[in-house]
Order: sequence, then structure tokens, then C-alpha cells
Amino acid sequence: MCRIVRSVTLADHQSPKEKKLVFLTARVHPGESPASFICQGVIDFLVSQHPVAQILRDHVIFKIVPMLNPDGVYLGNYRCSLMGFDLNRHWQDPSPWAHPTLHAVKQLIVQMNQDPRVSLEFYIDVHAHSTMLNGFMYGNVFEDEERVQRQAVFPRLLCQNAPDFSFSNTSFNKDVVKAGTGRRFLGGLLDDSSYCYTLEVSFYSYMTAGSTAPVPYTEETYTKLGRNVARTFLDYYKLNNHIKDNRPTHIQSEDIISPTGDRNNKGNGVSRDAAADKEKDKSQGVRH
Ligand SMILES: [Zn+2]
Repeated sequence: MCRIVRSVTLADHQSPKEKKLVFLTARVHPGESPASFICQGVIDFLVSQHPVAQILRDHVIFKIVPMLNPDGVYLGNYRCSLMGFDLNRHWQDPSPWAHPTLHAVKQLIVQMNQDPRVSLEFYIDVHAHSTMLNGFMYGNVFEDEERVQRQAVFPRLLCQNAPDFSFSNTSFNKDVVKAGTGRRFLGGLLDDSSYCYTLEVSFYSYMTAGSTAPVPYTEETYTKLGRNVARTFLDYYKLNNHIKDNRPTHIQSEDIISPTGDRNNKGNGVSRDAAADKEKDKSQGVRH
């Protein structure tokens, strides 16, 4: 569990005409299938009738590219594209011929960044990690200490909302080997008020504050992390006061209805309270 004090004023300098924009990509590494479940969780939540989702849609534009490397996924590759490239090392100068998806997405991001009607504030690229536990983030390193502090706010808030997300595993680096990644390249391209992260999630397990042994991730718990990522923008943008009647903002899976009208009752709910989740899971026979 994280305790945080929000002392930094966020995005308050913006013109009210600018709409905030969050850009999310996943599956640049085709073998990292947990990234798709996270992305699914984000999308299912954002298109649902949940009051938090409705408020987020009113205030924030989400652009989501769920699969940056579809050819690699189709072929069953672990890391590279059809032509053998690790696309997450080619953001600096992607070729329209050799890295077409990357080239197109980069062009779109550059275009959004220049659009005076929107303020591109977040770029999050979702991956899975083969050795670490929990969900965590990588961020960039800046000279400006205030910017460093501002960059840490979103992962701290996510740590409060998602029991499987670890702020202590979150780190900030400028390794030369990561220079061609989306997070590093766009971190240099976008302006000072934007934040670029890699969101990593373990292929295996997570530890929560109360757990004595690692808990294996399931499709449901990956999806749940995605929902928590989405709802954290409500806290980040201080939109809680838009919730009518002081309704609780935690998310239960029965609140999420797919566009086809089916209630998603496969997964367990999303709650800020890990203990309450555990009790609920027990009663629903969910394996943890
Ligand atoms: Zn990866």
C-alpha cells in the first residue's frame, strides 16, 4: 500500500479549451500477451456505463493502439516483427516499409502533439516482464527535480488503486540500450508537461501488502489491473467531484457491461481494498 500526499499542481496551467489526451499502446513485443489483457481491461472499462468511465470520457480523450506488432503476434514470435525487428528499438527513425505500424503510430502521436485543441499528456506502452513480480512502471530521468516528482504522481496513485501494482518496483532510467523505445523517444519529443511510461506486468505473480506468498496472475487479474489504470486518471485529473451523490468510485466487475450488453461477470471486481477483494473472491470461488 502506498501513502501519498499530492503536493504538486498538475496540468492546472492549461487552457480550458485544450482537451487532455492519453495515448496507450500495447503488444509491441508479441510474446507479452498479458499486455493485451491489461489493454482489454482499460477498453472494457472506458466504454462501460460505470459513472467513472462516463466522467473520464467527458474529460479525457483516450487513443488506444492495442497491438503494435500484429504480424509478430500472428506468427507466434516472442519479441520481433515479421521482418525480425524489435520494434521497440526503432522509434527514433521508423521506416514506413520495414516498421509500418510503428511509423504510422509515431506520425499520429506527432500530429496529436502539434494539435492546439488537445494536450497530449500521457503515453503509456504496456509490456509484460519475464522476471519481476507485480505491475510496475519505467519512467524517464530529468534534470528538473520538480518534473521528476510530477512524473512519480501517476504511478503512486496507481499503487493506491491497484493492490498488485508496486511503486517500489517502479524505476526511472536513461539506459543507452533503451534509447529507441517508445517511452524514451517520446519522452524527449513531447513537452515538459507530458509523461511517458512503460507499464510492465509480471508474466507470473504478484505480492500484495497482506500476502505471504506470490499470487499467480490470471487473465482476470491482468484485466483488473487495466481497469485500475483507467480509473486512476479520475484521481490524477481530480475529477472525483464529478461523481454524483458521492457514489463510491471503486469498480466491481458487474458494473462493466460490454458493448454487446453482456455483463462481464467472469472477473472479480476492482477495488482499492485488497482484503475486501479477497473476501469477494473467496465467496465467488475465484482462485488466488
Ligand atoms: Zn516488452
